[in-house]
Amino acid sequence: ASRTDRTIDLAVIPGDGIGPEVVAQGLKVLTAVLPQDVKLETREYDLGAKRWHATGETLPDAELEDLKGHDAILLGAIGDPGVPSGVLERGLLLKLRFAFDHFVNLRPSKLYPNTASPLAGRPDIDFVVVREGTEGPYVGNGGTIRKGTPQEVANEVSVNTAFGVERVVRDAYARAQARPRKKLTLVHKNNVLVHAGHLWKDTFDRVGREYPDVTTDYLHVDAATIFLVTDPARFDVIVTDNLFGDIITDLAAAVSGGIGLAASGNINPTRAFPSMFEPVHGSAPDIAGTGKADPTATVLSVALLLRHLGYEAEAARIDEAVTADLAEREGTTRTTDEIGDALAARVAG
Ligand code: ATP
Ligand code: MG
Repeated sequence: ASRTDRTIDLAVIPGDGIGPEVVAQGLKVLTAVLPQDVKLETREYDLGAKRWHATGETLPDAELEDLKGHDAILLGAIGDPGVPSGVLERGLLLKLRFAFDHFVNLRPSKLYPNTASPLAGRPDIDFVVVREGTEGPYVGNGGTIRKGTPQEVANEVSVNTAFGVERVVRDAYARAQARPRKKLTLVHKNNVLVHAGHLWKDTFDRVGREYPDVTTDYLHVDAATIFLVTDPARFDVIVTDNLFGDIITDLAAAVSGGIGLAASGNINPTRAFPSMFEPVHGSAPDIAGTGKADPTATVLSVALLLRHLGYEAEAARIDEAVTADLAEREGTTRTTDEIGDALAARVAG
């Protein structure tokens, strides 16, 4: 394709609560950062709690089919307190993740200027967690017997396949190799979870022989939580399973500036299906409609989206704009819109 017919065909799921507010700013910055010759096409999908309340639908198959045709998906936030727990998680978010085989859940953690970290001395935090997205205890493999009796037994099976572990470990090595420090840490618990743990460790060691320039390290998950607080600078890229990844990425977000800045990608690196990018935070019904939502996490998710689609220079401009904006923000309170406008102006300029 010539440089004049580039198009990004984006599906947008604004969702609930502050979702639509932050997504609007993400799109504003995306429009501003793209070169003139790149055409942005967007289609909005009405999915989430509002839709469920109105129709009882979470993600109809026809819409799942339509979503498949896009280059990528930008999601705001899904959910409100009126929807029973699990309905939208399983019926929408996990359904998308499994249908599009989002086996890499990517969550960068970086300490930006003037952000609240509970860590004293503001250590140099700049790492990325590669969390496995399609296996582990999240596959819904299990069951309950003698339910409701004192003898109830609940099994929740953690599924780990050689195929699934190897592909995410390979992705993590490639990401580590592309970063200046080239360091990869495997986080697991192979002293206790011996079956899954050894599959992960053996795979990690074997694939590592193909990446002699990547420094490797192994930590049990309990030790990793300590180091994330006492010495986060030791991490560059972390690879881990679905459950451990869920927990340590929330911890990572907390120590590195909070929920208003945490971005994430649910990625299928093979590009067989569209990848989905979203802020880590939820729909925040307590501040919806007040203009208090910080759109920065969504804007940083747009940067991950651009990087995934090969727009590295544009992604880097967004990262720089966020750093510069936060450096000057100190003490000021700005609305969702004002932050979006400031970031859009910076990436355009
Ligand atoms: P979910 O179950 O959807 O993850 P949650 O209840 O765990 O939702 P959030 O919706 O993320 O959590 O909100 C947690 C807290 O963080 C709330 O007090 C909310 O107002 C605040 N918060 C979340 N996102 C933002 C944001 N972008 N800007 C400012 N505050 C936010
Ligand atoms: Mg939450």
